[in-house]
Parts: sequence; structure tokens; C-alpha cells
Amino acid sequence: MTVVVTGASGFIGTQVTQALLARGERVVGLDRVPPTVAGDGFETLHVDLAAPHAEAFDALRAADAVVHLAARPGVRDCSPRIELRRHMDNVVATAQVLAAVPLPVPVVVASSSSVYGGSRRGRPSREDDRLRPRGGYARSKVAAEQRCAARAAAGGAVTVVRPFTVVGDGQRADMALARWIVDARAGRPLVVYGGLARRRDLTDVRDVVRAVLALLDRGARTTVNVGSGVGHSLAEIAAAVGDVVAPVTVEVVPLPVSEPDETLADTRRGAATFGFVPTTDVLDVVRRAASSAGDAEHLRLVS
Ligand code: NAD
Repeated sequence: MTVVVTGASGFIGTQVTQALLARGERVVGLDRVPPTVAGDGFETLHVDLAAPHAEAFDALRAADAVVHLAARPGVRDCSPRIELRRHMDNVVATAQVLAAVPLPVPVVVASSSSVYGGSRRGRPSREDDRLRPRGGYARSKVAAEQRCAARAAAGGAVTVVRPFTVVGDGQRADMALARWIVDARAGRPLVVYGGLARRRDLTDVRDVVRAVLALLDRGARTTVNVGSGVGHSLAEIAAAVGDVVAPVTVEVVPLPVSEPDETLADTRRGAATFGFVPTTDVLDVVRRAASSAGDAEHLRLVS
């Protein structure tokens, strides 16, 4: 089977690619930056998916399955022209990918838990909840989901996954956990937005990989949370960084309006659809994030 993985050079894409190669699939990685993995059966095309590109179109049209992970993540990104760049990478690129893949071919598309705008008073977010996106990133993911809904309405195969804060080896350098690890090593206070009592549902990147592969194999046509179903306080996560890296102090700063106070996944649909059993262990993911953050290659900054 040939699987096209978009965003194959990114945090999650690297691990999805490795898992597919490990089980003998042929993988075509589409990304605008070079991959960090190599291997038999892996080829890459360096493309901007938001722009028409004949070779990328051909690869997508010929694929047996597609995992669309390419996007501009980062809820706090406030770089110049960020709204336009998000629109191109999160909405236009998704539309181009979906348009290129024949309707019967399964496509798994990464959306985000950000579409919920947070959980309320400890109630886990369910896939059929009303969406309340809080900032530009979340809105762009809602718009990308609308493109997926149009494919589904036309009879196309598509699965939307909504990952909750993904953590583990090769952690993105702009994410809080990676920054905290760098700050702890440097003896600087960890910057905490909004206070230590806030809670996040953390998802081991290995669970995300398992989920994506299981959904591909089943050709599922649904929208599904990929989270742990457990809320961890920022105090607990900071303490884990302290245990793994070095003793920490914290500096609490105001919470941006684009960020929810707490996130929590309802994981029942995942359990019913593909037997999802989340396995996130905070200390273990912090250890793996810290050991990969020792490798400068993994500390890619978002372009
Ligand atoms: P990442 O930034 O590490 O990887 C994204 C990759 O997409 C990058 O390699 C980038 O070069 C590529 N890309 C972006 N725009 C492109 C374009 N127009 N053309 C070609 N390549 C392009 O991000 P990640 O953390 O691996 O996230 C993967 C997906 O999962 C994204 O859709 C993200 O929104 C979603 N997601 C991630 C998390 C998380 O916690 N990491 C949580 C929820 C959702």
C-alpha cells in the first residue's frame, strides 16, 4: 500500500511515517521542509501544499490512503501576517489535498481539540458538541473541518481526528512542554499562562500514531477525539519537568484569550470506533520529550 503523509517532516508526521515504514508500507512524504527520517520505501517531495503542484497532485491522486497532517499549528503564534499564513496552510492546503484525492480513497485529516474552545467545569468535550473556536488557529481548523464535511457529503472517505495537546519524543519547540524543558535546563523560571491550576488533556504522540493507523485501516468515516481523557494540572506537569530535568520555579503570566482554561477529551467514540485505549504517562512523556530535546535537530522552530 502507498500512503501519502503530508507534514511528514513535522513532529507527528515523522512518527506516523516511521510507523508506516515499520509495517512495510510505501510512504510518500509531502512537506515544505526536508524530513528527519530516511528508509526503504520512503520518498519525499518538497512542496507548498497551498500552491498547485503537479507532482504532489499526482502522488495524492495515486495514493491508496492519505494522512493529512501538514498545517501551521501554534495557538500563540502572532508572527506577521499570521492569519493569512494560517489560512493558506490550514485551510487552502487542506482543500487542495482533499480535491486531489479520489473520493473512495481514505483520508485522515488532523484537526485539533482547539475547535472546542475548552471543556466546561470538568465536562469532557464530545465530538458532537457545538464548536466554540477562540482564536485564529482554532477558527482555521473549523474551516478545514468544513472542507472535510463537504468531502463526506459528496460521498468521500474522510476521518477527522481532533488531537489534544500531543507530547513525547520530537516535541515541537514552540510548545509549552518543550519551552519548559529548555527553561528548566537553563535555570530560568517556567512561564505559566493563567496559573498552575489549569488543566490540560495530554496525549502521548505514540497514541496519536496508533489512532491514525487504526483509523486508516478501518477506513473510518467519522470525527474522533484523540486524547487521554485525563486532565493534568499545569502544576503536575511542571513538577514532572522538575523531576526529569532540574528543580523549577514558575512565573505566572496572563492567559491569552485564544487559550481555553482547561481541555479534556471524551474518548468514548474512539473506544467504540477503533478500540482506543489511551496510555499517556506524564513522567514518561516528559522524559522522552526531554531526551529528544537534547538533540538540536528536534528543536525545530515553526517557520
Ligand atoms: P508540525 O509543525 O511539527 O508539523 C507540520 C508540518 O507541516 C511541518 O513539517 C510543516 O513544514 C508542514 N507544512 C505546513 N504547512 C505546509 C504547506 N503549506 N505545505 C507543505 N508542508 C506544510 O506540527 P505537528 O505538531 O506535527 O502537528 C501535525 C498536525 O496535528 C497539524 O495539523 C496540527 O494542527 C495538528 N495538531 C497537533 C497538535 C499537537 O499538540 N502537536 C494538537 C492538535 C492538533
